Amino acid sequence: MDLPVLVCGAGIGGLTAALALARTRCRVVVLERADQLAEVGAGLQLSPNATHVLADLGLLEPVRALACEPEAIRIRSARDGSDLARVPLGATIKARHGAPYLVVHRGDLQRVLADAVHATPAIDLRLGTVLTEVDVGESSVSGRSPAGLRQVSGTGSALIGADGVRSFVRQSVLGGPPARFSGRTAYRATVPADLVPGALLRETGLWLGRNAHLVHYPVRSGKEFNIVALVEEDWNEDDWSAPASRPDLLARFAGWPSEARELLDLPDHWLKWALCAVDAGTPWASGRTALLGDAAHAMLPFAAQGAAMAIEDAAVLANCLAEKGKSVTDALLSYQSRRQARVARVQRTAAENARIYHLGWPVCLARDAVLKRKSPEALLARFDWIYGWRPPRLGNA
Ligand SMILES: Cc1cc2nc3c(=O)[nH]c(=O)nc-3n(C[C@H](O)[C@H](O)[C@H](O)COP(=O)(O)OP(=O)(O)OC[C@H]3O[C@@H](n4cnc5c(N)ncnc54)[C@H](O)[C@@H]3O)c2cc1C
Repeated sequence: MDLPVLVCGAGIGGLTAALALARTRCRVVVLERADQLAEVGAGLQLSPNATHVLADLGLLEPVRALACEPEAIRIRSARDGSDLARVPLGATIKARHGAPYLVVHRGDLQRVLADAVHATPAIDLRLGTVLTEVDVGESSVSGRSPAGLRQVSGTGSALIGADGVRSFVRQSVLGGPPARFSGRTAYRATVPADLVPGALLRETGLWLGRNAHLVHYPVRSGKEFNIVALVEEDWNEDDWSAPASRPDLLARFAGWPSEARELLDLPDHWLKWALCAVDAGTPWASGRTALLGDAAHAMLPFAAQGAAMAIEDAAVLANCLAEKGKSVTDALLSYQSRRQARVARVQRTAAENARIYHLGWPVCLARDAVLKRKSPEALLARFDWIYGWRPPRLGNA
């Protein structure tokens, strides 16, 4: 391809795609509306299917240096605090899938990716550039920013919409649907790790309650502790970082076991994020345009796979565009057909977890009994199809 690939969005998906494309000797222009890559979001769990891609890009060690490697996911009941199951991670999952399961602050992961982008001459990252107009021609795609902004955009061989859940490229270029609000909200906060009992810093905690659940794990090489409370409520604003009412949140968890309430009591400030979804079955590719990450398939975070799927997309997209003898249009269609069924299955799993995690009494008793009976091997085997995925070879163009 003579022209660079235009990538709209410098989130986890867009930056990973730029690096993967550069590996296949593509030039890339990344257009990002933010003036700087701020530390938005909080923690991310990165399972081996995603860390394999980071390893292929030579970024596993810098990410690992800022991340933590939990020993297990400890699942507990919010009715009485009892243990329901323990999914082994750490050395067990690394031996099983050949790459680690990490927990990392989104800002740290984005910074490692952005540093690698800055160090790659084939990638031109243009901050402060909102893509608002696109012309798709027979042999090129051009994108423009509105007049008055510091930068104008460019012309490329393909346009990749990695512009998140409320994607402009999905809706305005591909004519796709708006994101659907799920009726659930995530409250997110981080606190200094020394406020938290040491045992909690070695694992991911998951508490299951009626119409709500709680997830926590360490981030920032164990210096901070990430807490996410997911509740059912009717609030839907487009922001990674809307301030949330602490008293309202604490009131919602008033009947929970003291250990959970003590954690929720720690942060002075909470941010909230409306959980939206985009059906992975709607078209991701047409002509010279394709979608990636949340723009294509935003999902509920109940399988902790949204960013992981964006990272997988990036590796497959670069591999498809590098295939010799294929037109850009065919390469993008091939990318869509190699990704869509898997991502749709992950989305269904996340939606199913959303139902199961939030069951109320008495049906939760059946769920709890099933979880208590499962062996560690059975718990791990359930996720082999997700975590056992391997990226295609990059750089073989
Ligand atoms: C509570 C919660 C917990 C989560 N936990 C996990 C987890 O444990 N593991 C996991 O894998 N995933 C998790 N996720 C999902 C994960 O955060 C997302 O799937 C992932 O960040 C999506 O990345 P993205 O690059 O596709 O989109 P985004 O990160 O949203 O990036 C989109 C970028 O595009 C830019 N942009 C938008 N419009 C334009 C435009 N017109 N022009 C230029 N730039 C534009 C934006 O500024 C942004 O930088 C979680 C999500 C939530 C809400």
